[in-house]
Amino acid sequence: MSSGARPPGLRLVRDPAPVLHTRAEPIRVFDAGLRRLVREMYLCCVEWHGVGLAATQVGLNRRLAVVVHEGHQFALCNPEIVQATGEVDALEGCLSLPRQAGLVRRAETVTVRYRNPQGRGVERTLSGWLARIVQHETDHLHGVLCPERLAPGAVFGAVPPEGEAADRDAAGDARASEEAAGRPAQPEALVPAAGAPGAAGD
Ligand code: ZN
Repeated sequence: MSSGARPPGLRLVRDPAPVLHTRAEPIRVFDAGLRRLVREMYLCCVEWHGVGLAATQVGLNRRLAVVVHEGHQFALCNPEIVQATGEVDALEGCLSLPRQAGLVRRAETVTVRYRNPQGRGVERTLSGWLARIVQHETDHLHGVLCPERLAPGAVFGAVPPEGEAADRDAAGDARASEEAAGRPAQPEALVPAAGAPGAAGD
């Protein structure tokens, strides 16, 4: 366990765990409890050096995920990808599959429809790393992990430990992506190269 400001109550679930392979149940009540959970998931996502976190990864069978990446921070309730175009392969990892990565094929641009934690319907079109993160998290809520999305011929396997991070837990090992340009295997979900998505906050 690493130290830090991790909120009590939420713990990272690592594979193998049935909840990671189960379709999550839709969010039906958009109340203060949901918004508190979202805030806790944001904190965990940052503390664990992820760029996204699905509720199933903290053991909750609910269709909820958060994204925290390069100035963007938003929560998706009941997300559905309603349009996907293009194809791009990139190294991807997952907080629930520590120290592993593989070349994962994703759509380049997606339109995702979801509700925000206040229950308001949102539709947005994303590309680049944000599109990849949203696809990764939406997959989680369908019980699908990124090794099931490998590019043809790719393998999902161990990443050589980086000296200083060799024996740390998922949180420690998952170095913030921006620190690791060129180093593969950033859990959840990637290794953004320079030139990842533009700014425009959320
Ligand atoms: Zn993941």
